[in-house]
Amino acid sequence: MSQSTAEIRNAFLGFFESKGHQSVVSSPLVPGNDPTLLFTNAGMVQFKDVFLGMEQRPYTRATSSQRCVRAGGKHNDLENVGYTARHHTFFEMLGNFSFGDYFKRDAIQFAWEFLTEVVKLPKEKLWVTVFEEDDEAEAIWLNEIGVPKDRVARIGAKDNFWSMGDTGPCGPCTEIFYDHGEHIWGGPPGTPEEDGDRFIEIWNLVFMQYNRHADGTMEPLPKPSVDTGMGLERISAILQGVHSNYEIDIFQALIKDAAKVIGTNDLENKSLRVIADHIRSCSFLIVDGVMPSNEGRGYVLRRIIRRAVRHGNKLGAKGAFFYKLVAELNQQMGEAYPELTKQQAIVEKMLKLEEEQFGKTLDRGLSILDDALTSLEGKVIPGELVFKLYDTYGFPADLTADIARERDLEIDQAGFEAAMQEQRERAQKANNFGTDYNDAIKVEGKTAFLGYNLTDSKANIVALYQA
Ligand code: ATP
Ligand code: MG
Ligand code: MG
Ligand code: MG
Repeated sequence: MSQSTAEIRNAFLGFFESKGHQSVVSSPLVPGNDPTLLFTNAGMVQFKDVFLGMEQRPYTRATSSQRCVRAGGKHNDLENVGYTARHHTFFEMLGNFSFGDYFKRDAIQFAWEFLTEVVKLPKEKLWVTVFEEDDEAEAIWLNEIGVPKDRVARIGAKDNFWSMGDTGPCGPCTEIFYDHGEHIWGGPPGTPEEDGDRFIEIWNLVFMQYNRHADGTMEPLPKPSVDTGMGLERISAILQGVHSNYEIDIFQALIKDAAKVIGTNDLENKSLRVIADHIRSCSFLIVDGVMPSNEGRGYVLRRIIRRAVRHGNKLGAKGAFFYKLVAELNQQMGEAYPELTKQQAIVEKMLKLEEEQFGKTLDRGLSILDDALTSLEGKVIPGELVFKLYDTYGFPADLTADIARERDLEIDQAGFEAAMQEQRERAQKANNFGTDYNDAIKVEGKTAFLGYNLTDSKANIVALYQA
């Protein structure tokens, strides 16, 4: 059965509504309730205080399709993009949640019913993991659901025990995997080959069962809860009969559009996948109020944009291209996310500004790097060069690392950081004299990519489009 991603999203929410869940809209990517978290990276983030009992809602069951970004902090999949079939920086996490309502039995039964009866996945392709100490969950899978024992693996805490932080709610997980078939490299969960893309994790069911105290003791929660997450793009891939997330409808549309805009016919090129991934995260980050800058969330956004621009350059893009992909993204996702449609013009404008600024120094930086690489001895790009590319040409270190990896090289991260630190100290010293000497001598390099005041430009843009 082939279904569009939009239909699958709706089927999921509809199924859980029919099981008494309140459908809740996705919260923004900048978490409103947690300044320590870089980006919303799971469906449970907006419900954190509900799980902690600090916030009451008029329902005890909820379902959502949550936009997530994993491009920094504890969950960082940026380096996986373009290399695995299943990772994005931006993805949607389908979830169902129980706030002290149902627990393991119902959660497992709901998941199984959705997968095998609603979207009708063949049972024999599904594999399951449970936490190695969770006999209760294992018994439900074996005795009530009837999954054969050789397809249930007991796994340690690294993958199958979840906690909100060092203290607070925590508990075991059970995960469901789909076998894409022998022709793809990889082994079942719990084997040394599990990192391959044959057995792809689709759904994580977390059982919040304990409250962990500062001294490490775990006290059973009076009302245990459930938090689940299934990657929409991963289930879409299965239902659309393809292996990679990048082959699903939304991604194919974005990839074709990018190819057209850039002017290439090489639809299988890895760089197109990277660009299609990055236009989603960059656009939605801007929709949710992040602006390119040199620190924090804004720097993550800037780094992703610059990576995308570099991949476009690799494909031979002439001039700014990235912002032109927002229109197709809006075609694909605007219905599910009206905030994207509303801000399309702002997103385009911000991306274009950022792209044009970086575009000015990109070619020069690339040719400096190329020259250096032809005379490179060994496999490590020196930290000073990585720093020079950063400082003068606006190459974030991870962008240089991305290029290095394509050529089977590495960067000297420690050397780069040492050079950064030296620069900071120089700037501080200069500051003691009342003038920022450091800025004064670097006008050329810095203005090349910092020549506009981002805060002002967003304000201007907003004013422009509100008029
Ligand atoms: P993986 O082991 O494949 O990296 P994960 O264990 O890190 O996944 P969870 O934190 O358990 O993922 O998130 C729940 C679900 O969200 C996953 O089972 C998967 O379907 C989806 N998911 C997680 N990370 C990504 C990503 N970067 N891109 C797309 N989907 C993802
Ligand atoms: Mg992961
Ligand atoms: Mg995993
Ligand atoms: Mg997982």
